[in-house]
Amino acid sequence: MPYFKVLITRRLPTQLHRLEEVANVEVWPERQAPPYEVLLEKVKEVDGLLCLLTDQIDQQLIEVGKTLKVISQMAVGFDNIDIPTATARGIPVGNTPGVLTDATADLTWALLMAAARRVVEADRFVRSHLWQTWEPDLLLGPDIAGATLGIVGFGRIGQAVARRAKGFNMRIIYTSRHRCNPELEQSLGVEFADFASLLQTSDFVTIHTPLSAETFHLFGEAEFALMKQSAILINTARGAIVDPDALYQALRTGEIAGAAIDVTEPEPIPTDSPLLSLDNLIITPHIGSASRPTREKMANMAIDNLIAGLRGERLPNCVNPEVYQ
Ligand code: NAP
Repeated sequence: MPYFKVLITRRLPTQLHRLEEVANVEVWPERQAPPYEVLLEKVKEVDGLLCLLTDQIDQQLIEVGKTLKVISQMAVGFDNIDIPTATARGIPVGNTPGVLTDATADLTWALLMAAARRVVEADRFVRSHLWQTWEPDLLLGPDIAGATLGIVGFGRIGQAVARRAKGFNMRIIYTSRHRCNPELEQSLGVEFADFASLLQTSDFVTIHTPLSAETFHLFGEAEFALMKQSAILINTARGAIVDPDALYQALRTGEIAGAAIDVTEPEPIPTDSPLLSLDNLIITPHIGSASRPTREKMANMAIDNLIAGLRGERLPNCVNPEVYQ
């Protein structure tokens, strides 16, 4: 067995023994991602790269990585990687689908409930010593039970959110590239809708598509104009699916009632972003998959993909299986 060289772009929440049996492993030790120029130098010498969504794996980087046999990303999304270039060079790219579905759906649900019931505002209210008595109209929000939930992108996470919504007696509508089969629709208690009618009728809209050329700024001025003034938007997918300027205007002018987002464009959100001034917006720092067991599973899956790629075996989870044709 040849001894390979791999780079891991951050410390992982798991043991590396299995990988160290087949490769000489360099782990970038900093809290911040390696700067692009550093990555560009390091990638010239490695057989495998285990990267995160904060690493820009573009055409130039893939082309200078002459010895690269595999790129393994510790995330389900891979919009930071130039897949066509990797495919053209015959390099399989791995990701970690499935193991983070429930954790991300849970955070989506936490954000939906926190935005509806104004949990973050209420906490700030108490800590600002403003709580004086029980008031009939203090911090009121909408009901969740009986409300209509619109799910945009009905894959693994979208469906896991639907399962949670069912337990809350919501009416659930979804839009996606493909309509799912009637048995699945029936078991989840969901109805298919076109994008415009979903926006017009939903009390809560939650985004679960990947970021792609098609979904970039899918939510802009026109879409917020279609939504109910009482609606709340949740985004735990990718920041750039929502135009941040349009979101700011919609929240500031009351075109929609509130939003809760785990992802921003760019990340991290600039400290002078006007979005940070809004009380009707909750922002978390991209923690959708951040449960301890989930992150460990993601790291192990990424290592499995990496080892398979080094050995010339098919990756257990490959986003560009065309490389095997
Ligand atoms: P998935 O199973 O691939 O589901 C994505 C769904 O979106 C698919 O049903 C897909 O349809 C649909 N879709 C794609 N393009 C669309 C479009 N233009 N309009 C409408 N629907 C479209 O992926 P997943 O595992 O649910 O993950 C979804 C995304 O969540 C990931 O790509 C990632 O960016 C994000 N994510 C974020 C976090 C976080 O930490 N906040 C954690 C995990 C995932 P098809 O089946 O036709 O392709």
